[in-house]
Amino acid sequence: MTVWAIRCGTLFDGTGAAPLRDAGIIVADGRITAVGRADATAAPPGARTLDLSNRFVMPGLIDCHSHASIVPGLGDQLGQLCRGPVPQALAATRNLRQDLAAGTTTMRIMGEEHFVDIEVREAIEAGVITGPRLLVAGRGLAANNGHGRALVGYDGVDEVRRGARENLRRGANHVKIFVTGGVSSPGAMSTSSAYTREEIRAAVEEAERAGTYAAAHAHGGAGLRLAVQEGVGTIEHAALAEDEDIALMIERRVWLITTFAIFLHPRGIEGGDGQRPAIMEKMRWARRVVDENFPRHLASGVRFACGTDAVHGAMPFELQTLVRLGVSPQNALLAGTRWGAEACRIDRDTGTLQAGKRADLIAIDGDPLRDIAAMDRVSLVMKDGVTYDGVLGGQR
Ligand SMILES: [Zn+2]
Repeated sequence: MTVWAIRCGTLFDGTGAAPLRDAGIIVADGRITAVGRADATAAPPGARTLDLSNRFVMPGLIDCHSHASIVPGLGDQLGQLCRGPVPQALAATRNLRQDLAAGTTTMRIMGEEHFVDIEVREAIEAGVITGPRLLVAGRGLAANNGHGRALVGYDGVDEVRRGARENLRRGANHVKIFVTGGVSSPGAMSTSSAYTREEIRAAVEEAERAGTYAAAHAHGGAGLRLAVQEGVGTIEHAALAEDEDIALMIERRVWLITTFAIFLHPRGIEGGDGQRPAIMEKMRWARRVVDENFPRHLASGVRFACGTDAVHGAMPFELQTLVRLGVSPQNALLAGTRWGAEACRIDRDTGTLQAGKRADLIAIDGDPLRDIAAMDRVSLVMKDGVTYDGVLGGQR
């Protein structure tokens, strides 16, 4: 059993408490056993010391929406999903290492084919490959004529139930259903629902029967509202959400999972399908809508957390975008940590640095509460008490 005594220059514990200067964290067997002022967290005998006294230490980031195998900058994301399981697993191996180094210690995967995500989750847990802890959906449930349909479509209540049950039998942590259109597919971006009320209800019921929840890809409008009314736990993207959509989400306490990088980052859709003028045009429009509406949505009181949607290593960019859209740096850090854990229903285990929680933390060179750009300078990542180099590599 490895015991760590970690010295922190500044500690942001994710509970909402003010940052603590000159703090200490004690870790035993992958869990935090004590956290507080340095003089109150003396190193137990035999502990290994980790000196982060010139670093800002905070909980590991929680990417609430990604895909392990996809690289959006390569274009044709659905085509990438439909490749065989071996190229998918190899791509995931590279991508997830990039995510971990940028600070993501937990990642929610929102759809893969061949149940690759389940295998990859197990391989990470077994220490075969390196990556964030994964929460996985298995196959996304998409209508045959809907956005997100990869190798299989699911039409009608019975097929939706069968799809949900197959994912859950294989070990999915949650159910993903595609309700509205999306940005990366051609044609107008529809906010009407590809699924009927009964089909969405079936996905939610099957998830809840198995003790979990359904997450809906929905950009706004009638599709988003149908998904919220039928009881999904999280709405993914919501780029075209109107004030009335957000009001309904607040009323039903549904989480908004923002995914800015996929629309805004050069390594997002822009680098791939954005090379097609029609897609780029659609994206420019989505960007304008996001810039116009999100400062209001993010200040509305709706509960939000964020994801990269497969722009690997871009969680810092997500948090920086929240700040650009008017969120305080403190709330941006909370969105990337504790709120993400709450949205993914794992907050009893991670998301804050408190005794009993998993030892998932990152060290940053700089103070992101003063300058959110510092999020790009992750020098060390600890997951379950095991240390990994951050993007700054050996500079720790
Ligand atoms: Zn996605």
